[in-house]
Amino acid sequence: MQAPELVAAKYRAQGRRLTPQRQLLFTLLHENATHPTAEGLFEAASKRMPGISLRTVYQTLDELSDMGEIQLMHCDGGAVRFDPNVDDHHHALDAATGEVFDVYVDNLDALRAQLPEGFEVEQVSIVFRGRVTKPASLKAMHAKTKSPVRQQTARAKSTKRAPRRTSRGSSK
Ligand SMILES: [Zn+2]
Repeated sequence: MQAPELVAAKYRAQGRRLTPQRQLLFTLLHENATHPTAEGLFEAASKRMPGISLRTVYQTLDELSDMGEIQLMHCDGGAVRFDPNVDDHHHALDAATGEVFDVYVDNLDALRAQLPEGFEVEQVSIVFRGRVTKPASLKAMHAKTKSPVRQQTARAKSTKRAPRRTSRGSSK
């Protein structure tokens, strides 16, 4: 999702109704990595702006989804969650806390799925279920802006390749 000011400008340009309530929701959603439900967002918004209605929250989420600013996600069989990260990414679900984290997956094309003949894939969504055992590592992951897994893998690959070459060279 773009910065709240940019979303507000887009709203105006599209002739949508821009209210302080909606602007608050843009702010709450921007760079929100918690994948909130509508109810969760409503609770957070109510603290900042008492009197905001759940209906407004639902409407705004609908509009933002229409505009491609947020994605809807269903991953734990519970309420729909909303994701302001519209990158191509996947999720990890902590079974103990219900928290959902963004995960970037490399080499998805190499995945061999036995799909029916002629089935055209439009979207792939992977959910890793498990438990967070090192909360500190998760915080470090959140601190990085984008694609932490992709960066780590790229680094790991390049360091793996280098020693192999030197060991081959030294054996001669
Ligand atoms: Zn996400």
